[in-house]
Amino acid sequence: MDGNDAEDVEGANGAALSTLASEIEAAERVVALTGAGVSVPSGIPPFRGESSDDGPDPVWETHDPADFHRRRFDADPEGFWTDRLALRETLYGDGVEPNAAHEALATLESRGRLDTLLTQNVDGLHAAAGSESVVELHGTSARVVCDRCGSTGPADPVFERVRDGERPPTCDCGGVLKPDVVLFGEALPDEAFDRAQTAARRCDVFLAVGSSLAVRPAALLPEIAADSGATLAVVNLDETEYSGRADYDLRADATAALPALVAALDG
Ligand code: ZN
Repeated sequence: MDGNDAEDVEGANGAALSTLASEIEAAERVVALTGAGVSVPSGIPPFRGESSDDGPDPVWETHDPADFHRRRFDADPEGFWTDRLALRETLYGDGVEPNAAHEALATLESRGRLDTLLTQNVDGLHAAAGSESVVELHGTSARVVCDRCGSTGPADPVFERVRDGERPPTCDCGGVLKPDVVLFGEALPDEAFDRAQTAARRCDVFLAVGSSLAVRPAALLPEIAADSGATLAVVNLDETEYSGRADYDLRADATAALPALVAALDG
């Protein structure tokens, strides 16, 4: 995000990036997994972690996770939506845009170098950057889903209705609308996780970006890939659960490392 990160990429990580680029060129299938570290440079605060002087507080330091639990949605949908509106403002403010890491991943896909993009993020920025083969493991806050009939629609107009006082917002069928994300107390959608597992098992290179790889079940995916013989590359500012095991362990900001990787593929 700043000059130091770019220097890191060109220095200690530079040689590793060009070798990784060669592996990606030779690979039949490449899969990427992204976490909060890819969203933070767009101005979205991380959900977990330590408070720091130079960044926003983690979301769960300023909002109570219990307010966003499935039980709360069922018991008090009006209060849930009031808190959800406040959470949305904390997360996205007046709007957020994809950053250089999102753009680089979209570029990799459009050049045929990335088959599937798995993400733990719910901000919808990969799709906004133009990535098409995206598996949103925890759903997306860009959409709402009717809790009764299952129909889905864009979230923005629904949040407008909530702002205007419709709490909870309801579907034409009378059901309560829900953000199309996995709430605490809800299971990950089977279909998304099945697709993710299959992609991890079949890939030759697994690139994990901006995730501590500590939160299950997404944390299982690098292991599935590595056990199936894939090269494991990790790009993260800090040490991860897989740092000891990864073939490439790049301590770098994703907005510096991924554009550098794309540039290395050109060379
Ligand atoms: Zn409905």
